[in-house]
Amino acid sequence: MPHTLPLTEPAVAGLPATFYRRIRPEPLSQPYWVAQNHALAAEMGLRPSEIFDNPDNLLYLAGSAPAYNPTPIATVYSGHQFGVYVHQLGDGRAALLGESGSGGQRWEWQLKGMGKTPYSRFADGRAVLRSSIREYLCCEAMHGLGIATTRALALTGSNDAVYREEAETAAVLTRIAPSFIRFGHFEYLYHTGRHHNLPVLADFLIDRHFPECRRADNPYLAFFQTVSQRTAALIAAWQSVGFCHGVMNTDNMSALGLTIDYGPFGFLDHYDRHHVCNHSDHEGRYAYNEQPHVAHWNLIRFASCLLPLVPESALTDELERFPEAFQTAYTARMRAKIGLQTEEPADHGLIGDMFAALQGRKVDFTLFFRHLSKIGNTHGEPPPPELASLFEGSADAFVHWLGRYRGRLHAENSNPEARAVRMNAVNPLYILRNYLLEQAITQAKNGDFREIERLHRCMQNPFEERQEFADFAERPPQWAGGICVSCSS
Ligand code: AMP
Ligand code: MG
Repeated sequence: MPHTLPLTEPAVAGLPATFYRRIRPEPLSQPYWVAQNHALAAEMGLRPSEIFDNPDNLLYLAGSAPAYNPTPIATVYSGHQFGVYVHQLGDGRAALLGESGSGGQRWEWQLKGMGKTPYSRFADGRAVLRSSIREYLCCEAMHGLGIATTRALALTGSNDAVYREEAETAAVLTRIAPSFIRFGHFEYLYHTGRHHNLPVLADFLIDRHFPECRRADNPYLAFFQTVSQRTAALIAAWQSVGFCHGVMNTDNMSALGLTIDYGPFGFLDHYDRHHVCNHSDHEGRYAYNEQPHVAHWNLIRFASCLLPLVPESALTDELERFPEAFQTAYTARMRAKIGLQTEEPADHGLIGDMFAALQGRKVDFTLFFRHLSKIGNTHGEPPPPELASLFEGSADAFVHWLGRYRGRLHAENSNPEARAVRMNAVNPLYILRNYLLEQAITQAKNGDFREIERLHRCMQNPFEERQEFADFAERPPQWAGGICVSCSS
């Protein structure tokens, strides 16, 4: 039987041949469903049963179908990895299957972990179940938080062995996005002297994703400005939920401003501005508080690839605007998190001092904001016990800060009940902590995928308290601090 997925030839296939190679997925034996995202299928205008109740679709999305039509595509890109330019990366274990559409929106379908491609270099083209569960759940959790991201439609597994530090099993993730083009695609064209193809790729993105740029005097400058603004907004969103990406290499930066390539990511448990989630990142290059600077550095790399298309001074001007654009987006997010409705120039300092009062006190990032909503307006009233108990050692600096915060709340006549409602709508109660992922992964390795489904359901709406997910809202256990997440995937 042929598959019944509504896939058409990917538009990327219309780009010059230098961008990609046609590939054949390498079949896995006896694949099975690990996770099915019915909500996303519906969002994509598809009937979930049509997608998931068909054994041929399972084979297709596991990279194990006898034939592929349209023919899948692997694209080439390069990138700066930990600051060092690497000439040829590319889709080493991912392939574009095709695209589908509904209501004017186009979706690209990509398989990740489906075997070797011409860009696999020395690696096996596979992805293990562990890291694929992490990616599946985290992109959907990011979406639940309202943060721009690639999505996950399905996860399939097989008992075929994949060797990392130890023998694990294989998985194939179906990723969905309007586009998977990265900064690295431009870097490849620029650094390999294929400059005539730079406008081809930029035009492709402008026509499909940034049509408003066409009206500008220089559409390529407008395109860069849009990418820069989206990146500023994205990183502000990451910071506001304590998300650490872990590998912010330029090849992991989306040209559409999406969170992409979930590897050794982590959400802050306790607030630590220096937190490094990737155990392979010994220098702390991608530490939590470095992310805005890294994004800026990455944009500089990206801008340099547009030099054949845009005057240097215009690119430099835009790059100089980035820190302020980030700061504005960040402060707006943080104001909302602490329930402020008006804007004061001193808010930036108020927010900075709040984090200074948390640093070194092992205060749970997520629960802090959730409990801060319970603060009353009365001056001198101590913080509620659930908030005070988050602090390890003295909370004096925080209590001092609380006085200033209450002053600020008075100045805008803040109503405590209405403020709490607003804050709980932007501060998640549930966050996809590494230890929660570990629990779901341990069960999945034993063939039980129910915890994946439960976490997914919870993280689809992380703001609304629900009794069935009470265990996900607790402070992490002691062992959570010992979890080691490396690049191995
Ligand atoms: P990452 O660090 O996951 O962003 O990957 C960096 C580059 O290595 C990308 O070009 C990936 O496609 C490639 N890559 C990572 N893991 C594998 C693998 N197991 N097989 C083939 N290519 C891989
Ligand atoms: Mg990558």
